[in-house]
Amino acid sequence: MPIATVNPATGETERTFEPLGSQEIEECLARAGATFEHFRTTPFAERAALLRRAADLLDEDTDDIARTITTEMGKPLAAARAEAGKCAKTMRWYAEHAEGLLADEHPDQGDVRDSGGARAFVRYRPLGVVLAVMPWNFPLWQVVRFAAPALMAGNVGLLKHASNVPQTALYLADLFRRAGYDEGCFQTLLVGSGAIEDILRDPRVAAATLTGSEGAGRSVAAIAGDEIKKTVLELGGSDPYLVLPSADVDAAARTAVTARVQNAGQSCIAAKRFIVHTQVYDAFLERFAAGMRELTVGDPKDEGTDVGPLSSEQGRDDLEELVDDAVRHGATAVCGGQRPKGLERGFYYEPTVLTGITPGMRIHREETFGPVATVYRVADLDEALAVANDTSFGLSSNVWTRDEAEQDRCVRDLQAGGVYFNGMTASHPAFPFGGVKRSGYGRELSGHGIKEFCNTTTVWHG
Ligand code: NDP
Repeated sequence: MPIATVNPATGETERTFEPLGSQEIEECLARAGATFEHFRTTPFAERAALLRRAADLLDEDTDDIARTITTEMGKPLAAARAEAGKCAKTMRWYAEHAEGLLADEHPDQGDVRDSGGARAFVRYRPLGVVLAVMPWNFPLWQVVRFAAPALMAGNVGLLKHASNVPQTALYLADLFRRAGYDEGCFQTLLVGSGAIEDILRDPRVAAATLTGSEGAGRSVAAIAGDEIKKTVLELGGSDPYLVLPSADVDAAARTAVTARVQNAGQSCIAAKRFIVHTQVYDAFLERFAAGMRELTVGDPKDEGTDVGPLSSEQGRDDLEELVDDAVRHGATAVCGGQRPKGLERGFYYEPTVLTGITPGMRIHREETFGPVATVYRVADLDEALAVANDTSFGLSSNVWTRDEAEQDRCVRDLQAGGVYFNGMTASHPAFPFGGVKRSGYGRELSGHGIKEFCNTTTVWHG
């Protein structure tokens, strides 16, 4: 895959970049390793000041970087600006909370005596150089979600970003450098995915985090496993969205539209499978499809656009194949189901609602990374949970019910890393984020995320 900015709204290649050679990669690795040796000893207050400065600079740069993001991967400008704002907020959250999250822990004194010791505590020490393999869908956020806690813990980062967002990748390294970090604290490596194995096997790299597809995750985890290096994987999702009889159906349908088409549907935590109780099915479907039809699809640089193009021609073609396969096998497109007229130059796809899904269809099993919703009719909560869990993924889940017994049942039985009631899944720096099954393992954000790349050290005094 060439390292290039291809504008998905026009299909035009705007800039191409030469990948780094082996000598340049070696220099980056050496710089990262050397920088970690002193950065790991810096006090929290110093790290927090640096991260707050990065947040301030990001706020100042918001309009410029939003335009770059929109050009590189096609999200509407307002969404790109919101992404930058969320990154600055998360930087400030970790600047404020990291020291407390990583404070020494003191076991019960009775247990310390039982161990034969006089004193013992647990200290969270940084792990080292962490390689971050990141995707294009939230090209700032996915990186900051890793970098803010990692840097606050005293680690240093190497970013291998997706090949279609090179300008955003270079911006990030520049942002941290302008904030006052040593160059070795956070470096962008403009390399293709073929270069990852050697970098990951390098003894100066301690761990890796990857957000992306199952295939990429499997490959990085296999290499890291061979090297006995820690990984965190945040892979795909096919999140269920349950609507049960006690739901506010209007609100559920309105939120369902946003939950499905945010980022043109290219979000791992987008709701993808809408599982609706038969008592409210007709009302929900009518309102949901109406909301999907009302969306404005178009140029992401127009402020009135709700849904921009998909990020790549391949992404649009993959989505189109999933829909065509479903329709060929008997699914009904209640709305959408094709490329929009008049937008042929870019990688657009119409917001689509499909019903009549059966287990033999590819779309029943695979992730739809675009504005395509599947709607299932179920007879009761048992069937809703069975359909919800009938997937290899387990990232998050959404349930609309006011019934507390149903809520308890969902928390007990949904196979996912999150259960969101009467709303849609959204990440927040204070809450752990991640999945089970083939959605990956480990957690990002919150205290759980910052500890993933720490050496949890027992200190014991006899
Ligand atoms: P990829 O997984 O291919 O890309 C994500 C990152 O992984 C990129 O930096 C990419 O580099 C890198 N990568 C790709 N292949 C490998 C490999 N074998 N070893 C190591 N790193 C690799 O995602 P795509 O862009 O191809 O999207 C395909 C599907 O993945 C989507 O349809 C969606 O289902 C899922 N996905 C999920 C995301 C999420 O947020 N969880 C984000 C993006 C995609 P390069 O760009 O150079 O290939």
